[in-house]
Amino acid sequence: MTLVFDLPEQLTLPIQSSDHRFPVGRIFCVGRNYAAHAEEMGNEVDREAPFYFTKSAANAVQSGAEVPYPQGTSDFHHEVELFVALGNTVDCAEGADLLDAVLGYGCGLDMTRRDLQIRERRKQRPWDLGKDLENGTVLGSITTRQDWAGPKGQSVWLDVNGQRRQAGNLEDMVWSVPELLRHLSEFYHLRAGDIIMTGTPAGVGAVKPGDVITGGVTGLSEVTLTLKP
Ligand code: MN
Repeated sequence: MTLVFDLPEQLTLPIQSSDHRFPVGRIFCVGRNYAAHAEEMGNEVDREAPFYFTKSAANAVQSGAEVPYPQGTSDFHHEVELFVALGNTVDCAEGADLLDAVLGYGCGLDMTRRDLQIRERRKQRPWDLGKDLENGTVLGSITTRQDWAGPKGQSVWLDVNGQRRQAGNLEDMVWSVPELLRHLSEFYHLRAGDIIMTGTPAGVGAVKPGDVITGGVTGLSEVTLTLKP
């Protein structure tokens, strides 16, 4: 078979202490998973059920990327998040361990055109313009589940040009990783290659051309993004 044209190569992520790389399939993002961030956005956490949006793998980049300030916005925001990388199909059968499907964890940035997200939200329209932008998801390397003692009380933080902007703790997540896997499995057959961004703590804010953004979770590889001047 000959393709009429080639698409850009699929994004893959390094796995710590491994020669293998992780091919990124689908990217699910959890909204409002930290009460303090929901509050700063003028919302309340929905304790009934988590909610989601998706971001295209084709719009994601690896940590270390240097990208232009995006078009169509004048309020481009950082959000640092723990992400879960699945290496297997999630088994929700009674007695099964949902975390068996987790290959590992990493630190990611859910970059957001906040002005567009809020404008569309007010009109009760989808968030795609605000969230699924080119180079808008930044993913660090993956640490295997066996090599990391979390998520359990680790700090999550983000600096812009060395200044601390976000500081939170994974224990403040409203929905835990197993709860998210179980709930999301009611709507998707979660599988190897899926990434779940678990939401951001408080302190989101705007970045500008030339900024260097660094995010971290204790025990995981940092994620960095540079905006071209
Ligand atoms: Mn987010």
